[in-house]
Amino acid sequence: MQKQLIAENLQKSYAEVVLPLPLRQTFTYSMPSIIAENAKLGARLLVPFGKRQLTGYIVTIHEELQKDLEIDESKLKEAVELLDEEPLINPEILRLTQWTADYYSCSWGEVLKASLPAGVNVDSETVVQITATGREKLFTTTNFKTLKAEILQHLADEIEVIKGDLEKKFGKSLIQRNLRELENLGFISTFQRTLSTKAKPKLRKAVRLIDTSKAISAETNSLILNEKQENIISVLLENNGEIGFVELLELADVSASSIQTLAKRNIVEIFVHEVFRDPLKTSKIPEILDLTLTDEQINVFSQLATAINTNTYETFVLHGVTGSGKTEIYIRAMKVALETGKTALMMVPEIALTPVFSKRLRSVFGNEVAILHSKLSTGERFDEWRRIKSGSARVVIGTRSAIFAPLENLGVIIVDEEHDGSYRQHETPFYHARDVAVVRGNFTKAVVILGSATPSLETFRNAEIGKYKLLGLPNRIGNRPLAAVEIVDMREVFKEKGKDQVLSPQLLTAIRETYSKGEQTIILLNRRGFSSFVLCRSCGDAIRCKNCDITLTFHKRDNTLVCHYCGYREKVPTVCPACDSKFINFLGEGTEQLETILRDNFPDLRIERIDRDTMNRRNALENILDDFSEKKIDMLLGTQMLAKGHDFPNVTLVGVLAIDASLSLPDFHTAERTFQLLTQVSGRAGRGELPGKVLIQTYCPQHYVLQHAETQDYLHFYEKESKFRKNLNYPPFVALASLLFHHENFDYAYEQSQILRECLQNSNAKHESRILGPAPAPISRLKGEYRLQIIVKSANRNKLRELLDFSLHEAQGKSFDLRCVNIEIDPINLS
Ligand code: ADP
Ligand code: ZN
Ligand code: ZN
Repeated sequence: MQKQLIAENLQKSYAEVVLPLPLRQTFTYSMPSIIAENAKLGARLLVPFGKRQLTGYIVTIHEELQKDLEIDESKLKEAVELLDEEPLINPEILRLTQWTADYYSCSWGEVLKASLPAGVNVDSETVVQITATGREKLFTTTNFKTLKAEILQHLADEIEVIKGDLEKKFGKSLIQRNLRELENLGFISTFQRTLSTKAKPKLRKAVRLIDTSKAISAETNSLILNEKQENIISVLLENNGEIGFVELLELADVSASSIQTLAKRNIVEIFVHEVFRDPLKTSKIPEILDLTLTDEQINVFSQLATAINTNTYETFVLHGVTGSGKTEIYIRAMKVALETGKTALMMVPEIALTPVFSKRLRSVFGNEVAILHSKLSTGERFDEWRRIKSGSARVVIGTRSAIFAPLENLGVIIVDEEHDGSYRQHETPFYHARDVAVVRGNFTKAVVILGSATPSLETFRNAEIGKYKLLGLPNRIGNRPLAAVEIVDMREVFKEKGKDQVLSPQLLTAIRETYSKGEQTIILLNRRGFSSFVLCRSCGDAIRCKNCDITLTFHKRDNTLVCHYCGYREKVPTVCPACDSKFINFLGEGTEQLETILRDNFPDLRIERIDRDTMNRRNALENILDDFSEKKIDMLLGTQMLAKGHDFPNVTLVGVLAIDASLSLPDFHTAERTFQLLTQVSGRAGRGELPGKVLIQTYCPQHYVLQHAETQDYLHFYEKESKFRKNLNYPPFVALASLLFHHENFDYAYEQSQILRECLQNSNAKHESRILGPAPAPISRLKGEYRLQIIVKSANRNKLRELLDFSLHEAQGKSFDLRCVNIEIDPINLS
């Protein structure tokens, strides 16, 4: 008896699993031998968790239970299914995601989930059924008015009902409460069902000649073919002996049976193969540029090439002014990596950039390039990811989460526009892709290049103290001058005209001149300065979102008010919701109105606007950018995204409107971000043979950010801003964390913040860190939740981490609710 037990135990193994939940721990599951035999690190494992089944990731496997964990064997749950024979996650990504979770105090499982393409995770859904007791109750009850009765009736009518659908029909919180009660009464039962993966390989039926030589000399081989069969053979021969089934039907003008007959005679073969969905299928691929590097470029490139060749980690900061030829350097660096048998990863901030860059890369590297960004379809992303995983794509270009792309043997990681805020994920798991890039480079002995015309203060400081190596491209290609920046004082314009003007006379004249020379204009609108909202003239209330502490933005096109934070929309009311007055009023010049004003002023110009809507339609954006570069459009207006990376040589004028709205934000990053934006957008002018000009309209021309933007002088701006941050104890001179508490119930959020505040104080006995708050966050209500904030400032990262770890540990002992806090290390947005 005793022996048998031991033998049984030996067949079992145990897996430590992390789950995609906001929990900072691993879970132990036992694996029956059939699973244990094939289980490997990094494979997905379907496991029971509470009433659900979840996709977990195996991070450790052991033969025996670890004694020190004091786990009660009898309470261990058994894994349900091994989802991968071959692990989806390689050891390097396991290590990288573990670091990310540790560093940003978030859940490893959530980071792993974010690192994988959507559609590979197994989800589960809750099925709700009515019980016999429930049915009986339904037939005996006379009161059909209650929601519970309505739900029961619905369940009785349908064959099966998914909880999510019920929530959509009746409202989430209502359903959750009522279902719980109905279940307690025994009227309904629920169970979990797993959904199979959403993304699947795309398969295509195709036809090929079994023996091409035999077909070519059909007559001598005495193949007797009818006319239809001859057609099939000749189409196949024209297509190198292989073609899609459906295409063949069309081209040869035959029916399926003709092809099948040939297949039976063993002349052709019908087979199924996978077609990879190509995100660039419809794009025009440009010709390869054959450039001779300038001396400055050669200097930079040779240092990078040496580092890549020697397989040593080093981070370079490539500080190059706009138009200095950074892109060419990136491409050459990637070539070096590939030539030495390694792979390359290039990070770009925005989807708006990827069509341009990825087409460039496709022209150089062909099918070795894979593209990863959030606007791909699930299928495209799934395919691109698998091409990377299998090693058939060795160059990756992508946005934020591409930093976890499963490339092996990385030679170089490039982060273009490294200062850009979009590298920071603004929801769980919070991470900064640029910083993860540096760590990944370090782990894999790859060279990291952080490129920008306006490096972030953090990065430039790291170069200053010698942690990173600084490389510079101080001049534009061909020694073209930077665009001349002119500050337009809108106070003067106001004095002259007697009222506020959207467009200054200077800008109007400049647009006209630019157009008359056949050149192009970009107008940058600061979105914050151009949102129009609805105000009541009786009570002075602006109409706000129901779920957020945010004024709704008016959209003229469909006469609706929209919340840009949660997506809530409503028709413009005819009376004020607060006081019933009819005197409601539109305020502010929206981007749509601005477009109208520009069109009225310049009826001859072909004008296009890029906004969120265009961004969401991938081809629309690509078409506009293509048209603009082919000079089919004279003026492009749009928000921040227009400032980034584009290279349109015929653009000679850039106008910047309402920049002041950015400068007045309550965040210590404001000056830096505005300076970056202005430098970036100025960099769009005068990139070709023709000199460029930039007009910035402002009501505070004396602001130091504008002064430095006028001279486009990064180094002086850096000095000034650094002093500022040092004096006020802001990063990069201290380490900062924001703890954001959010809950639909204010008292609950407040209670939780107090628990953590107390733990922080206890752990901060030596008063090495400063703890500020809890106070209402700048956006005090969002998506129906109240928000409170605690800010922690420490001398350095280690001290900050230590403090957070200690206090979170202590808080968990006091039944602190981890789900209602977002912890952001080095936050870039204090909202
Ligand atoms: P950045 O990324 O630094 O703003 P780009 O890489 O876009 O600058 O280069 C600006 C322009 O100069 C592009 O049109 C590019 O094709 C061109 N260019 C880059 N390197 C060279 C070179 N060595 N000779 C000629 N033109 C170049
Ligand atoms: Zn009112
Ligand atoms: Zn909202």
